[in-house]
Amino acid sequence: MSVTTELLALHGGPKTITQPLNRYNSIGREEVEAAKAVVESGILSQFLGCWEPDFFGGPKVQEFERQCEAYFGVKHAITVNSWTSGLIAAVGAIGIEPGDEVIVSPWTMCASATAILHWNAIPVFADIEPETFCLDPASVEANITPYTKAIMAVDIFGHSSDAEALMKIAKLHDLKVITDTAQSPGAYYKGKFAGTLAHVGGYSLNYHKHIHTGEGGILVTDDDEIADRLRLIRNHAEAVVGDKGVSDLRNMVGYNFRLGEIECAIGIEQLKKLKGCVASRQRAGERLTRGIRDLPGLRTPVITHDCTHVYYVYPIVLDVEKIGVSRARIVEALEAEGIEGLAAGYANVHLLPMYQQKMAYGSGGFPWTSDICHRDVSYTKGICPTAEKLHETTFLGFEMCLHELSDEDVDLIVRAFRKVWTRMESLK
Ligand SMILES: *Cc1c(COP(=O)(O)O)cnc(C)c1O
Repeated sequence: MSVTTELLALHGGPKTITQPLNRYNSIGREEVEAAKAVVESGILSQFLGCWEPDFFGGPKVQEFERQCEAYFGVKHAITVNSWTSGLIAAVGAIGIEPGDEVIVSPWTMCASATAILHWNAIPVFADIEPETFCLDPASVEANITPYTKAIMAVDIFGHSSDAEALMKIAKLHDLKVITDTAQSPGAYYKGKFAGTLAHVGGYSLNYHKHIHTGEGGILVTDDDEIADRLRLIRNHAEAVVGDKGVSDLRNMVGYNFRLGEIECAIGIEQLKKLKGCVASRQRAGERLTRGIRDLPGLRTPVITHDCTHVYYVYPIVLDVEKIGVSRARIVEALEAEGIEGLAAGYANVHLLPMYQQKMAYGSGGFPWTSDICHRDVSYTKGICPTAEKLHETTFLGFEMCLHELSDEDVDLIVRAFRKVWTRMESLK
C-alpha cells in the first residue's frame, strides 16, 4: 500500500485516522471507591484556620502529603487547591517584597507570571532555550538587575529546565528559585525529579495533567522555613501567626488554598498511577519520534541536560522556510487526516494585554506606575526573540495529555504525518 497515490484528505482523499483517538482518562474504580469512602465519613475537609492540629488538615490530606514526600523524595509536600494557588503561595513564602523583580519564562501558562504580580512584584521575562523551551540561563543572567530576587523556572511540556545552571546563577546573585513543574511530574533531571531541585517547586493536579484530582496542586520543598510559610499562606496566616509565635510577618497574608479530603483521597490513588502514565507517554512519544524524525524540515523533541521527557505536549519545530509551506497550512492538512490535539504555537505571556498595557490592579497601572517599581521594565515585542519566533511561525505542539495512545494509534499518526510530507508539494 502506498500513500503517495492517495490525495490528502484536505483535497478530498481518504482520511488516515477515521476513529476519534482514545481520550486520556486516569479515573477508575479505585478513585470512585476512595471518594465514596470520604463522602460516607461525612468529613469532606478537616482544616481549621487556627493554630491547632487541624491547621494541617484531615487524615487524607496528611496521608497524601506524606506519600508525595516519599514519592518525590522531598522533606515537605504541601497540598493546595490548585497549582495557581501553589505558585502564589510559593512567591509569598520566599519573602518577595513589593517591587522586587522575578525572572520568568514567557513560554508558559499565564499563572506562572501572574503569581508574581499577586505580591505586587514585577515579572521580568527572559527568553527560552530553543531545544527545551525552558528558561535560557544566559538570558536569565542578562536580565538580572539589582532588584532581581527570584527566578520562576517552568519545566514545560514534560522536560525539566536546566536546574543546575539556574541554581548556580541563583547562588551567585543570592536569588531564590521556584520551579513550575505542572507539566512535568515524574520527569528526571540528572537522576532527580524535576520540581525538587529548586528552593520550592511543585505540580498541578488539574484535570488535564498527568495525574489529577479535578483541581489541586502539590508544593514540594526541602526547606523547613519555606514549608512553614507555605502552610501559613495556605491557611489564613494572619490569624495563625500570633498563636504559633511567628515573628517574621513578611507576607503572612493568608488565603484559603486548602485542598479537600475527597481530592486527597483521589490523589492517593492517582499518585500510584503516575509511573504507569509516564511510561505510557514515553512509549508513545518515542514511537512517534522513531516514525517521523526523518521528515525534512521537522524537528522531533530534543531531550538534553541528562533529562527524561514525560510528554505533556509532544513538541515539534518546523523549518517552514525549508518546507516552503506555512505552519497553518500543514496543521490544516494534518487535522484533515484526523489528528486531534495539534496546537500551532504555544504562549508569549509577555504579549498579553495586561503586560502590553501595563494594567493589572485598578486603572492606574499599578504596580508599574507606582514608586515601588524600581525601573521601567520592558514587555515590548522583541525581548524574547526565540519564544516569539516559535510561537508565531515554527512551533507545532501535539497535546499528548489529551490522549491514551496505543502503538496502533501512534502508527496511524505517523502515517498521517508521512502522507502530508509526501504530498507537501500539493500544499504549496
Ligand atoms: C496547568 C498549569 C498551571 C496551573 O495549574 P492549575 O492547577 O490549573 O492552577 C501553571 N503552570 C503551568 C505550566 C501549567 O501547565
